[in-house]
Amino acid sequence: MDRRTNDELMMAEALAEAAGALETCVFPVGAVLARGTQVLGRARKTMASNHLSHAEMNLFHRVFMGDYRFARADGLTLYTTLEPCVMCFGTLLHLPITRLVFAMEDAYGGCASVTLTGAPPRHQHRPLEIIGGVCRSEAQALFATFLDTTAEPFWREGGAPSFQAAVRGEAADP
Ligand SMILES: [Zn+2]
Repeated sequence: MDRRTNDELMMAEALAEAAGALETCVFPVGAVLARGTQVLGRARKTMASNHLSHAEMNLFHRVFMGDYRFARADGLTLYTTLEPCVMCFGTLLHLPITRLVFAMEDAYGGCASVTLTGAPPRHQHRPLEIIGGVCRSEAQALFATFLDTTAEPFWREGGAPSFQAAVRGEAADP
C-alpha cells in the first residue's frame, strides 16, 4: 500500500515534470495544480527563450488562460519543486489558489516568506497556506545533477550562490 500523503503524491508528479526538464538540460523545476487528489494541470520550466517560461507560469497559462471557472472555494493547491520567485509568487497571489506546497527552498530568489504587510487591500485578505520541504531531498538531487552537468554560463560562473550552496549542502553568504 502506498503510504505517501496526497501532498507527497502530487509532489511526485511535479518532480516527474522537473526530471523531464532535466532530460533536456533545462533547470529542473516542475509544477502541478491540484484540487485534492485531482490533477488539473502540470508543467515544467522550458527552454529559456524568454524570462517568463518558469514552470509555474507555464502551468498558469495552461490552466487559467481564458478560464474563469475556478474560485478560491475550490481549494486549489500549487505544487512546485522550488520555492516560487517574485513573478510566480505574485501571480499565484492573483489567482484563486489557496495552498502552496514546495519542495526546496530558494534562499537566493524564493519569495514564499515575503510578508504582505503594507501591500494594498486586495492582497491583505487572501490567506495562503504555505508548506515547504515536501520531497525536498528528491528535488535537491535533481538540482545537484543539473549543476553538475549544465553548460549555462550563469550557473558555471557561480550564479545564485546561496541556492547553489543549499543544493550542495554547504553554507554560503547570500
Ligand atoms: Zn518563477
